[in-house]
Amino acid sequence: MKITQKSEVLDILRMPYGVFENTVKKEARKVQRIDNADHIVVTSLLGYDNICKNRCTYCGMRAGFIGLKRYRMDIGDIKRSEDEVKKLGISRIFLISGEDPKYDFGDILSMVTYGKQLGLFVSLAAGEMSCSRYRALEAAGLDEYVLKFETSSRDMFAKIKPTADFENRMKCIEFIKGSGMALASGNIIGLPHQTDEQVADDIMLMKELDISWAPIIPYMPVPGTPLAEEGGRGSLETTLKEISILRIMMPHVNITAQQPGIKIENGLADVDGNLNALSAGANMLFVDMLPASLIDSFNVISHRMIEGMENVDRLLSLSGIDKETKQPQVQ
Ligand code: SF4
Repeated sequence: MKITQKSEVLDILRMPYGVFENTVKKEARKVQRIDNADHIVVTSLLGYDNICKNRCTYCGMRAGFIGLKRYRMDIGDIKRSEDEVKKLGISRIFLISGEDPKYDFGDILSMVTYGKQLGLFVSLAAGEMSCSRYRALEAAGLDEYVLKFETSSRDMFAKIKPTADFENRMKCIEFIKGSGMALASGNIIGLPHQTDEQVADDIMLMKELDISWAPIIPYMPVPGTPLAEEGGRGSLETTLKEISILRIMMPHVNITAQQPGIKIENGLADVDGNLNALSAGANMLFVDMLPASLIDSFNVISHRMIEGMENVDRLLSLSGIDKETKQPQVQ
C-alpha cells in the first residue's frame, strides 16, 4: 500500500474505523514489523524546567497558570539524571523544558555535552531559538532537536499559540532541518474546531519535512486552560489512523507509542492506549526520569505518565513484540 497524496490521507481519515482496522492498520503493523524490523526505541525523558514565557491556550505550563509549582533543575541534578539513564542501560535521553529565556544557555550546552560524553543519543526541546544557538547546540553534539509545529494551519496556530508566530516557528523548523541535527516535529490531533483537511495537511507537512520522530499525541484538555472551554479531547481513532498513515508513508520514522486510551485519567500510561498505538505502527516508548516530587509539575498535559523501564518490558510482552527489537543498550 502506498500513500503519497493528501486525498489518500483524507480518505483514510474519513473511512469507517472498522474498515481502517482491517486494512490500513494491519498494513502499518506489517510495515513496522518487516520494513522497520519491529525496531522499538526506548528513550528516557527529563522535563528539566517547567517555566515558560508563552501562553499556549492548551498548555498546563503556560505563563501565569495558577497553582503550578515552578522549578528549574540545576545542572548538577540534570547530570546525575543522565548518569542514571546510563545506569539503566537506556541509550537515549529527551531533555525538555518550557521556553524559559532565563535558563542559562551554557547549562543547556553542558547537559548536551555531558549526555554525549556518556554515549547517549540526545534530543532537546527548548522552544524557538536564534540560529546561532541552534548552531551552538549542533556543535555541542546534539543529535535531534524537537520543535513541533502543532498545526500547519496559520489561523489555528495563531489561536492556540497567541504569543508565538507561525512564520518564525517554520523558520526555526527549516533551519533545524537544514542543520546536521535530526528534526522531530508533528501536530496535536483533535484540537477543538480542527478539520480532517487540517490533520491531512499536518501529515503531509511531516512527510515533507522528513522528520526523524513524530512526537504526536491527541489533544487532552487541561482544566483551567482557555482551550479547555472550547471542546473535549481529541479522537483516539484519528490518532491511530495518523500513526498508521505515518508508518506507511515513512517506514523508518519514530512514532510515539505512549498514547492515551479511553480512561483519560490514565494519561499517557494507559496500557490499552499504548498497545493500540504499537499495533497501529508506533514504536517509541518513554521512561520518565523526573523525581517523584516534580512529576506532577511538568504539566503540559494532565495525567502525563509515571512509568519506568519495567513498563516498557511489560508492554512489549503484552504486544507480542520481541524484546530483542529494542534498540541496542548502552554498555
Ligand atoms: S506548549 Fe510549550 S511553549 Fe507553549 S506554553 Fe506550554 S511549555 Fe510553553
